[in-house]
Amino acid sequence: MPKPAGKTAATLAKKLEKLGIRSRFDLVLHLPLRYEDETSLTQVEHAPPGVPVLVEARPVRAEIGYRPRRQLTLHAMSGDTPLGLRFFNFYPSQVKQFERAMADALIVRAFGEVRLGRFGAEMLHPRYKLVTASEPLPDSLTPIYPATAGVTQPALRAVILDALRSEPIEESVPEPLRKRYSLRDFPASVRFLHTPPPRVDAGQLIERTHPAWQRIKFDELLAQQLSMRMHYLARRSRAAPPLVTAGPLLKHFLSAMPFALTPAQRRCLEEIMRDIGQPHPMQRLLQGDVGSGKTILAALSALAAVDSGWQAAVMAPTEILAEQHYRKFSEWLAPLGVKLSWLHGSLAKKDRQSTLRDVAAEGPGVVIGTHALFQQGVDFSRLGLAIVDEQHRFGVQQRLALRNKASANSIVPHQLMMSATPIPRTLSMSYYADLDVSVIDELPPGRTPVRTRLVANGRRSQVLARVREACAAGQQAYWVCPLIEESETLDLQTALDTYAELQAEFPELKVGLLHGRLQPAEKAEAMHAFKDNQFQLLVCTTVIEVGVDVPNASLMVIEHSERFGLAQLHQLRGRVGRGTRESDCILLYASPLSDMARQRLKAIYENADGFAIAQADLSLRGPGEYLGERQSGSPLLRFADLEKDEAMLDVAREAAGLMLEEHPAEARAHVERWLGSRQEFTRV
Ligand code: ADP
Ligand code: MG
Repeated sequence: MPKPAGKTAATLAKKLEKLGIRSRFDLVLHLPLRYEDETSLTQVEHAPPGVPVLVEARPVRAEIGYRPRRQLTLHAMSGDTPLGLRFFNFYPSQVKQFERAMADALIVRAFGEVRLGRFGAEMLHPRYKLVTASEPLPDSLTPIYPATAGVTQPALRAVILDALRSEPIEESVPEPLRKRYSLRDFPASVRFLHTPPPRVDAGQLIERTHPAWQRIKFDELLAQQLSMRMHYLARRSRAAPPLVTAGPLLKHFLSAMPFALTPAQRRCLEEIMRDIGQPHPMQRLLQGDVGSGKTILAALSALAAVDSGWQAAVMAPTEILAEQHYRKFSEWLAPLGVKLSWLHGSLAKKDRQSTLRDVAAEGPGVVIGTHALFQQGVDFSRLGLAIVDEQHRFGVQQRLALRNKASANSIVPHQLMMSATPIPRTLSMSYYADLDVSVIDELPPGRTPVRTRLVANGRRSQVLARVREACAAGQQAYWVCPLIEESETLDLQTALDTYAELQAEFPELKVGLLHGRLQPAEKAEAMHAFKDNQFQLLVCTTVIEVGVDVPNASLMVIEHSERFGLAQLHQLRGRVGRGTRESDCILLYASPLSDMARQRLKAIYENADGFAIAQADLSLRGPGEYLGERQSGSPLLRFADLEKDEAMLDVAREAAGLMLEEHPAEARAHVERWLGSRQEFTRV
C-alpha cells in the first residue's frame, strides 16, 4: 500500500479498507466500473443532447442566485457561445475559487451534458477543472471507480495510479500456461483497464468482454479453482480409518431392509462405500431432492463405521430433526444391537454428562444431535464418520468447528454431507469444487407428485373447506404461517392468531401448534402427537421446513407464501407427498405481488424438480445471495460471472490442475495474490 505520510494517509487507508482494499495488489485490482472520455473537446454548440462531453470556456462572472432556488452560476464564454455552469450544492469557497481563476486568466474545463436552459447553453453540476490554456488533455479515458462515502474519484485515481507505477506488477501465470491458453499479458491488461486509450470499444469495456477483462476474470477463476483444489488435496492427504464396507451388520441390515434401494440410491451408496474404504478422509456431498431417501444411506454408512469398530456422528440442524433421526436410526439399527446416543438440548445435566462419558468411553456406536455435538466438550474416542444432514443450513463457523474438531487428531473422520438444495453446475464447479458429489436423482417408487395451487387471500374460505374435507377423510394437514408474533410493521398473521382462528373454525378437529419459541421438549411432543395422528391439523411456522417426515400428511397450506424464498417453499412443500396418497400444497398469497414474488411463485408452481427450482432461484437472486455469506463462506467472485463466463470456468479448472502439477510454487503465489487472508473462509 503506498503511504503518503501522516494522518490523512491513515484515514484514507481506513476508507479504502471499506472498499476491500488492503494491499497494493487490491488497489491494482480495484477496476473501473465505467469511463468518461475527456480526451477531446467538444464545441458547446455541437454537443449532442444527453451525452456527457468535455467543453472548455473562459469564466466571466460567478454569481449566487436564489431563484428558483439557491444556486451558484459560473457564467463563461466558450468561443462566442455563452455557457452557464450551475451548481445547487456548493461551498462558499467555490465563488472565491472562480474569482481567483478569472484573475489568473485560467480557463474552465467542464465535463457533463450540455442542455438548453432558459438563458442559453448550460451544464448542471458538471465535473470541472480550472487550468491554464496550455494544459494538455488527458491521453486516456477517465476511469470511474466503485467508491465509498468519503473517498473521491480523484483521490482513488491518485492512489491507484501510484500503485500501478510504484513497482512493476508481476505476471503470476507461467509462460507455458499463458501460451497454451492464449492469455494476454497480465500487467498490460490491468494497466489497460485503468487507463484505456481513447477510441477503444467502450461496449467491450463496460460489458467486460474485452480481452483485457478476459484475462482478469481468468486469473480470478484460476485462483478460485486452485484454492479449492489445494484445500481438497490437503484434506485428502490426511489419514482416515479405512472402514469395512461388507461387515456383518451392514450385510444383515441390507438383507432385512424395509424397502429396496432405488438404483440411484444404490449408485450413491457404492460411491460412498468406495470412499470410506480408503485410508484418506472422504469429503462427499450427498445431494438429493426432498424425499429422495438420503437418511437410509446415512444409516448404512454409519453401520460400516460400527462394523469397523468406529463411531459415527450424525449432526442435524434442528432438535426436531435430530430427534427424528434418533428414532429412525433406533428403529433400524437398535435391533442389530447397535448402541445409539442422543445428545439433545433438554437432557438433564446428569444425563448429559453420562451420555458424554459413554461417547468418550464406549467406542463403536452412533451419536446423534445438533451442532452442539461438535462444540461443547464432546469427546469422541473413535470418530470414524461424521454425517452432516441438511449441510446448507449450517453456518461457516459451525462447519469450521466440525473441521477443526476433525483435524485435531492425526486421524480425520470421513465426512458425509447431505443436502436437498441442488447445486447448479456452475456452482458445483466453483464454490463446491472441493467436494466430491453424489446425486440421488430419482424418488422412491409410488410417489405421486404434489399438486400445487396458488390461491389469493380473498378465497380463504374455499381453502378452509378443503382442509375440512381432507381431515374428515382421515388425512392430516399442515398450516404454515410465516411469523410467530404480531409485528407492527409486517402485516402478517401470526401463528398464535391463526391457531386460535382455526380452532374456532374447526371445532370437530384436533388442532396442534408448533413454533420456534416452544421449548425443545414441547416441540418434540407436538411433533409426536402429529405423527401419531392425535392432531389432524398442525399450525406451524417454518420450524418444520427441513426433514420432517409424516407420510399421512397430504395437505399443506402456506400463508403469505409470497414472503418465502424459493428454496424454503420447495422444502416446505416436500413435507407432503411422502405417502402414496395424492397430495396438495396450497399457496395463499396477498395481492398485490411484487415482481420478484410473482416470479418465485410462478417458479414453484411450474416446477416440481428441486434442480429446476434451484436454477430459477440462482438466476433470480444471483450467486451472492443464493449462496449467502454463511453458505459460501468463500469470497464471491468480483469480476467473473458464472453464468456468462461458464466456458472460461472449464478452462480455468483444467489450467488449475496443470499449474498445480507443473508449477506448484507459482500456483501458491497466485492464490495468495488473489485470496490472501480470505482463504480461511473457503468452504469446509
Ligand atoms: P430425504 O432425502 O428428504 O432426507 P428421507 O430419507 O426422509 O428423505 O426419505 C423419505 C421417505 O422415503 C422416508 O419415509 C424413507 O423411509 C422413504 N424411503 C427412502 N428410500 C426409499 C426406497 N428406496 N423405497 C421406498 N421408500 C423409501
Ligand atoms: Mg432428510
